[in-house]
Amino acid sequence: MAQEIIERFEELTVYHFYDVFGHSEEACIHLLQEIGLIPWLNESHFICPRCNGNNLHLTRAPTYKLNFAFRCRDCKQAKRQGRQQMETWINPLHNTWFERAKLSFLDVMRVTHAFVLNFPIFILEDQTGIDDETLIDWYSVCREVCTEFATQRRIGGAGHIVEIDEHLLVTPKYHRGHALVNQAEWVWGAYDRTTGEIVLVRLPDRTDDTLLLCITNYINEHSLIFSDGWLRRRSNEIVDDLNMSGHHYVVHKYEFSRYEWIAQTGK
Ligand SMILES: [Zn+2]
Repeated sequence: MAQEIIERFEELTVYHFYDVFGHSEEACIHLLQEIGLIPWLNESHFICPRCNGNNLHLTRAPTYKLNFAFRCRDCKQAKRQGRQQMETWINPLHNTWFERAKLSFLDVMRVTHAFVLNFPIFILEDQTGIDDETLIDWYSVCREVCTEFATQRRIGGAGHIVEIDEHLLVTPKYHRGHALVNQAEWVWGAYDRTTGEIVLVRLPDRTDDTLLLCITNYINEHSLIFSDGWLRRRSNEIVDDLNMSGHHYVVHKYEFSRYEWIAQTGK
């Protein structure tokens, strides 16, 4: 299912956006339900967080974004009988991308799509009429999600080649003048050649312990690791502890193709 959805949106351009998402809010909501970004208004979907029961019913509630909410019958009864203070209402958009959105569903998708396409905010503001403050907020949420995605997972595994390296990122203030050392930041990255997945991590320092921790935290065991040689200078014992299928150091200038050959053919 997930793969089908990815394929369906892979080639999405701004020109086909409305063909896919529809021209109305209703059509967009329907599509979002179909692909599982928001739930169908189905009473068995939720469990009451207060009483753990599933005696929920759908009630018209204009203050909620979808105009409906789930109300727990058991909690309602308990409140009536004085056994608890509060009733329980559940927003169907709880824990979805749209939970706190003030924009329409169609606009949320337009902004999210524009972020994926790396549209500058001033163009998006001009094209959609949405104010820049709202757009900046949405872009910042999108960035947070990307950061979390790139920093909270593990990549690689048996049969995977994973390249690792560290880079010094320096951003001159306002993109002018000389870069200052105290604005620099070391970032450790790993790239799984088999799946194309990446992990990026900010480094507090570049000590051996920190770099080894990156490997154990973000790379699955039995991966074949390619690095620029940092790991080669560590003792065999440390490298063995990582429990990887192998390690090749690469001097990118002239040895890369040789090791690539070894990794792929074993010769
Ligand atoms: Zn309840």
